[in-house]
Amino acid sequence: MKEVDYIVVGLGIAGLSFCEKLLENNKSFIVFNDAKESSSLISAGIINPLVLKRFTPVWNAHEHISTAFPFYKNLSKKLNTEILEEFPMFRIFNNVEEQNNWMVASDKEELKSFLNPKIEKNTNPSINAPFGLGKVNKTGRVFSEVLIKKYSEFLLEKDRLLSETFDYSLLSETEDSIQYKNISAKKIVFTEGAYVRNNPFFPKQLLIPNKGEFIVLKVPNLQFHAMLKSSIFIISLGNDLYKVGATYDREDYSYKTTSLAKEELLKKFEKIITAPYEVVSQVAGIRPTTKDRRPLLGTLKESNRKIFFSGLGTRGFISSPSLANKLYNHLEHNEDLLKEIDIKRHYKDS
Ligand SMILES: Cc1cc2nc3c(=O)[nH]c(=O)nc-3n(C[C@H](O)[C@H](O)[C@H](O)COP(=O)(O)OP(=O)(O)OC[C@H]3O[C@@H](n4cnc5c(N)ncnc54)[C@H](O)[C@@H]3O)c2cc1C
Repeated sequence: MKEVDYIVVGLGIAGLSFCEKLLENNKSFIVFNDAKESSSLISAGIINPLVLKRFTPVWNAHEHISTAFPFYKNLSKKLNTEILEEFPMFRIFNNVEEQNNWMVASDKEELKSFLNPKIEKNTNPSINAPFGLGKVNKTGRVFSEVLIKKYSEFLLEKDRLLSETFDYSLLSETEDSIQYKNISAKKIVFTEGAYVRNNPFFPKQLLIPNKGEFIVLKVPNLQFHAMLKSSIFIISLGNDLYKVGATYDREDYSYKTTSLAKEELLKKFEKIITAPYEVVSQVAGIRPTTKDRRPLLGTLKESNRKIFFSGLGTRGFISSPSLANKLYNHLEHNEDLLKEIDIKRHYKDS
């Protein structure tokens, strides 16, 4: 029997962030990941502290940002690969009211460091932005696919990753440990993204899958190296390529791309960009969202050895590093989880 401190199921950004905490603290662990369909793999990896519809901060923005940037910079060094680009982001204003709201927001204490108060004039002839643009500070992009692939290689080399589907029916639990095949662990952490709904230990109704699709376009005349936000994001990838998205769909839980999503994105794109384009590719993924837009961390009443780290929603890349810290401190140092992220919040008697 192989003995470890933790079994981790899933290697998207949640699993990866938790593994980093385990490594930092010299804990032994083994990861199971089948990489069937991971939303981290196809994510745009945008780090953005603002809700750009309403000019408000995302939940816990300051803590998330101050943890996320050093986290990804350290990973770049460790994996010897560039995985983070600190990359400007601009919000296109639709009217004068939005310009005014932006300036009011930029004066608020909690937002000051994220919004640049200046209304920038658009000088790019291919961009339709007569009311100008606002620059968001502290933004960036994680090269999500590169990160997950390199990190998987890193764990494989250390014999800490098994590329296989975890079979729940083979899991058993005694008073002081968890057993799975030939492995005995003190705890098991499920970081399965939207797939956690298939996990028999997880209350399925807590997670609401939200499908998203992106298209990649080649737009040689656009000549723009930044992220642009209007009704959609347009993200420069270099070599005249731009990622355009994403859609939101709560009905279709498949990972298949659709012509409907492509049409919707192209329609929105053409309202913003006047340059000719060519469609290069399309991807789809499922966001693990929750009703109250907060993650699902910790244990249920049935077992304190089965732990969940899910519900990262639309913002997994900004929030995951600091959530992993909170979860680790809860498990190893008995620190209370904030009520709003504790999975137990959904149960009245807990
Ligand atoms: C189109 C789109 C765009 C997005 N853009 C952004 C963005 O710009 N910025 C941002 O922060 N977030 C973005 N997101 C959201 C972000 O992708 C998610 O919040 C995040 O990736 C969730 O990570 P996760 O680790 O929880 O799940 P996942 O990345 O889905 O990882 C779960 C892993 O667990 C594995 N797994 C599941 N069950 C099992 C099992 N039984 N056995 C073995 N392995 C298993 C899966 O194969 C997968 O590899 C986007 C999402 C979508 C769909």
